Amino acid sequence: MAETIDKTKIPPKDSGRRRFFHALASLGSGAVTGLVGMKMLESKKAEAAELPAVLAEPSGRLVARMQQELEQTIASGRTPSWLMVVDTRKCIGCDACTVACRAENPTGPGGNFRRVIQKEHGPSVGAWAVFKPVNCLQCENAPCAKAVPAGMIWKRPDGIVEFDHKKLKGSYASAAAQACPLKLITIDDGKTFTESTPSQQPYELRAFVENGEVHSRKPGANDLKDSARKCTFCSHLLDIGVLPACVSTCVGGAMYFGDANNPSSLVQEITQGRRVFRGHTDMGLTPRVIYFEEPMPDAAHIDCSVCHY
Ligand code: SF4
Ligand code: SF4
Repeated sequence: MAETIDKTKIPPKDSGRRRFFHALASLGSGAVTGLVGMKMLESKKAEAAELPAVLAEPSGRLVARMQQELEQTIASGRTPSWLMVVDTRKCIGCDACTVACRAENPTGPGGNFRRVIQKEHGPSVGAWAVFKPVNCLQCENAPCAKAVPAGMIWKRPDGIVEFDHKKLKGSYASAAAQACPLKLITIDDGKTFTESTPSQQPYELRAFVENGEVHSRKPGANDLKDSARKCTFCSHLLDIGVLPACVSTCVGGAMYFGDANNPSSLVQEITQGRRVFRGHTDMGLTPRVIYFEEPMPDAAHIDCSVCHY
């Protein structure tokens, strides 16, 4: 028997996500292309009124632009100020970025540098979900750095927070992990996905670079065991002119990355004058990962409680 749908419980047609995509579609139609800061079409109340036209471009083109900007920055020799931007309205929760992150930064089954949080809202019919990818925010005055002796955690000139894996072990690793307000540090337990299978897979034993040093998680020779680890914006890739794995993999076109020092960069273009995720600043953090915070259905803004229980 067909399910009866109570139409009074279906979200209104001007829901934030729908308004957002209507606006993008209209931008893509060409009728108003080029009007940076166009008004949202369906609601004068929408706080998400300002939409840079560039957001309507195909995500593949934007990834190509970010890659080109990165190569120019590296070639110029100037010091960048790296910034990651996440548009939660475009994230579809597919976890492709999480898989790409794991492939690029081996951690084993017990750890990860990045995860995608999902929180469902609304009635059983017409419910909606917010997907929020999270990784280290590369904070200024990082709480994790304040929790351990000086010299164990530092900032690169480009803003990336780095760990000394040799020193940041045991109780120091635990102290740093506890101090991170968003629990974005993992302590390497040394385990691998395939260690109890007949054939340990080579991808788990390969050498890789983290914080400028070559490591391997080969059982018995894993120098990262018991060390605190976290996202580095794939600094080993950035340093050779390649975008972070999560950014180049994002199928939803929700990830943006670039140099905040470059006034013509994509990240500058899409963030100027826009609000960011309030939750992090409310926690006293000054992050380098910012989230668009446009209204979603039934919510004035997305606050911490959406993703953190
Ligand atoms: S998000 Fe956590 S791990 Fe990353 S710099 Fe900030 S406090 Fe440290
Ligand atoms: S790959 Fe992109 S769309 Fe998919 S979960 Fe990650 S951020 Fe969201």
